[in-house]
Amino acid sequence: METMDVFESNSAIELRKRLSEAQNIVLTGHRSPDGDAVGSCLALWNHLKENGIESKVVLPDEFPGFLNWMNGVDSIVLHSQNEELAEQLIEEADVLFVLDYNSASRVGAMQYSLENSKAFKVMVDHHQQPVDFVDLMFSDESSCSTAEMVYRLIERWGEEANLSVRSAGCLYCGIMTDSGSFRFPSVTPRTHKIAAALCEIGIDHSKIHRYVYDNNREGQLKLIGYALTEKLQVFPEHKSAVISLSAEELKSFGYVKGDTEGLVNQALSVEGVNFAAFIHESDDRIKMSFRSVGEFSVRDFSANHFGGGGHHNAAGGSSTDSLEEVVSKIIKLLPEYSGKLNYIAD
Ligand code: 5GP
Ligand code: MN
Repeated sequence: METMDVFESNSAIELRKRLSEAQNIVLTGHRSPDGDAVGSCLALWNHLKENGIESKVVLPDEFPGFLNWMNGVDSIVLHSQNEELAEQLIEEADVLFVLDYNSASRVGAMQYSLENSKAFKVMVDHHQQPVDFVDLMFSDESSCSTAEMVYRLIERWGEEANLSVRSAGCLYCGIMTDSGSFRFPSVTPRTHKIAAALCEIGIDHSKIHRYVYDNNREGQLKLIGYALTEKLQVFPEHKSAVISLSAEELKSFGYVKGDTEGLVNQALSVEGVNFAAFIHESDDRIKMSFRSVGEFSVRDFSANHFGGGGHHNAAGGSSTDSLEEVVSKIIKLLPEYSGKLNYIAD
């Protein structure tokens, strides 16, 4: 494995040559793929295709419907729906991209085939503490999104000027969703410069915002209303807020994936709250989303108690314990962190 100061060295250029010669290129993202994972995969898929290079996007499971406008979504292979084909593609790959995740454990049921694939594995990711399971690693914690890094990789190839609107739209969506619409501290002048370049290519940024954020189902809004009215627990003494939803509650509002996207941020928006958790029951596990403002590291919290990870202010994890057990574990942990959470975020 070779680690480098991101895209500076020659490896990025050598990678481009390798892609021209490869027979089977597979682009993968993490389980419960988000705007950044799907956007990064499809941006690269579109860009390579437009340059005469075919590839396949293989994702562990379903992505939210508000991403369906992206060019290429119909060609994505979901492991959860077409296991045989997904495994065959991974097995036959000679180059495999690991996009928007940094540990093989993040792809769920795809982990075994991923780890056993003989492909030359290339990671492009912005999460903390990457795990060394690839041949070439582009890991940059200072990036607000993987999509920002994919742009920089394409720029390193000298191909940013011929990015298409299709590809640019996917990149913009990845940057936009992972940066909380350009509001998180991870956003830098570079992020805005890249966004500007994408706008100059001709993307309709306003439309992309609308597709992603103004695309709520009626049941979804009612679910959010229910969660905030009935399920939000605020612990002012620990500067924390917790929301949990059971499978039954989700089902009663006709839940579909993506419905609760952003709910954890609403819990975090409560005045004085520095730490928020959203816990929900999914098919086979309990999924947790953690957010913080300021110095409290939700990455460490998630890693220490749930084997999860992510970023300093946005992390997640999963558990096979019951919903009640997970929620009560989190609430019981709060007094322990009360001191660490007792600050006024700038
Ligand atoms: P979200 O709460 O939006 O699902 O995830 C927040 C951040 O934490 C994302 O950057 C995501 O990649 C990371 N994350 C979410 N779930 C997990 C998990 O189970 N394990 C690890 N290592 N990271 C996660
Ligand atoms: Mn990301």
